[in-house]
Amino acid sequence: MNSIKVTHSSQVVLIGAGIMSATLGILLKELEPSIKITIFERLDVVAGESSNAWNNAGTGHAAYCELNYTPELEDGTIEVKKAIKIASAYEMSKAFWAYLVNEDYFKAPELFINNIPHISFVWGEDNVNFLKKRYEALRKYALFEGIQYSEDLEELSSWMPLVIQERDKGQKIAATKLDLGTDVNFGNLTQVLIDHLATLEGVQIKLSHEVRDLEKERDGSWEIKYKDLEADETFKMKADFVFLGAGGGSLSLLDKSDIEEGRGYGGFPISGQFLVCNNEALVAQHHAKVYGKASVGAPPMSVPHLDTRLIDGKKTLLFGPFAGFSTKFLKNGSYFDLPFSIELDNFMPMISVGLDNWSLTKYLIHQVSLSPEDRLEALKEYLPSAQLQDWELCTAGQRVQVIKKDKNKGGVLEFGTEIVSAADGSIAALLGASPGASTSVSSMIDVLKKCFPENMASAAWQQKLKQMIPCYGEDLVANETLCKETRMFSAQVLHLLD
Ligand SMILES: Cc1cc2nc3c(=O)[nH]c(=O)nc-3n(C[C@H](O)[C@H](O)[C@H](O)COP(=O)(O)OP(=O)(O)OC[C@H]3O[C@@H](n4cnc5c(N)ncnc54)[C@H](O)[C@@H]3O)c2cc1C
Repeated sequence: MNSIKVTHSSQVVLIGAGIMSATLGILLKELEPSIKITIFERLDVVAGESSNAWNNAGTGHAAYCELNYTPELEDGTIEVKKAIKIASAYEMSKAFWAYLVNEDYFKAPELFINNIPHISFVWGEDNVNFLKKRYEALRKYALFEGIQYSEDLEELSSWMPLVIQERDKGQKIAATKLDLGTDVNFGNLTQVLIDHLATLEGVQIKLSHEVRDLEKERDGSWEIKYKDLEADETFKMKADFVFLGAGGGSLSLLDKSDIEEGRGYGGFPISGQFLVCNNEALVAQHHAKVYGKASVGAPPMSVPHLDTRLIDGKKTLLFGPFAGFSTKFLKNGSYFDLPFSIELDNFMPMISVGLDNWSLTKYLIHQVSLSPEDRLEALKEYLPSAQLQDWELCTAGQRVQVIKKDKNKGGVLEFGTEIVSAADGSIAALLGASPGASTSVSSMIDVLKKCFPENMASAAWQQKLKQMIPCYGEDLVANETLCKETRMFSAQVLHLLD
């Protein structure tokens, strides 16, 4: 029989033990050591969903190689705004991780971050022209210092021999390379952060505990109803601040919170699949993350890439992602997630998005119907000598793209991340998944700005933030010296320049 017991209260409740809650927990404890934090996780492990190394692509997104961050405008110029924003945010992440390494959180940074060059690779006259213009636009900034461009077969072959081998010699190709690119094991990073939190006074980590409901109390606090899945018992707890860091589970919790700001949001799940190379000789010959251009109608996060990964000390090679469709919002979720997420307030936005995004629908139908041979053809565009027997298909994490109300269109589909918070700052949710884990530090600082404005304005928090992240609050385009110093410092501490 289920019974409900009221347990103690916690100042802060973080729902979900992924990279976002882990980062927010550490930031809060560093800024306010006496704060009491409880983390609820429905799985019996930390980082079991999107933050797990096998459930994401592990790219330290810095806009070095992702062509979708630098769109070509109608007048033919390249827009670099988004690339600069993401590169600056990633510098903040690296600076914070470097601080944690110096504070002895990690025995060796190689446990979670490794240096893998980031390459953008294109073929065809138009794409080559685009890449050259992109290179010219980015190289002016200290954030992209070190970026190289080449159309020379020999040089390209030295950058990525397998990609150039057996390629049609008449094909016009080009690439850019930035050696400071990274591969990140966000699962290990999350685990270490949560392990550290568990050692601190006032922190409780509750694995196999699922949050079922939450309600705003008259006194302004939140009452959280959660279930101990092992004991099959239900409890209630009070909290002053709640963060919904539940990944694909955040949307339904936001809906349950009933806050005005959460009305009208919906979600559209897209799962990812990768081909994993099982031929060690091939794996050994490639050492880069090679990103191409997305095909027409494809969502931005499905840009194909051939990726060297370093997972738990072992080098692997992945190609993808291919999109899959499942109505689940979490990999370990329920097939009813999507149908049960449809409510009166998001029905119209969801219908509008369905009608407006026909090219995405067509793309998904095409992806879902791909045969192993079709996937091999896609891989051969990057690896002309690829053979079917060397590759296995594996399923990665679920992403839930945000659908939100739009005055003109009824609803729009967003591919980025979005922080939704109550006006009183007592609750915040992180929705969406891109650029995701790489920018977790700046995203969680945004949560602090929205929900703890007074503390954030205090000299104590500002000083501590500056100590942890020297580039916090700085413009890394205007301040080139700081940008170079920041990149160099984190590269040294994180062993990215060996
Ligand atoms: C295919 C794919 C590729 C990606 N590639 C990259 C990449 O290359 N680089 C990058 O930076 N990002 C990438 N991302 C995005 C990145 O993985 C995510 O942005 C990030 O991991 C999200 O972290 P999170 O903590 O919000 O969510 P998660 O890691 O999903 O954690 C949420 C946790 O909440 C738990 N939970 C859910 N509901 C409840 C509940 N009711 N009660 C208690 N616990 C609950 C879940 O079990 C889960 O453990 C990728 C994502 C996918 C799917």
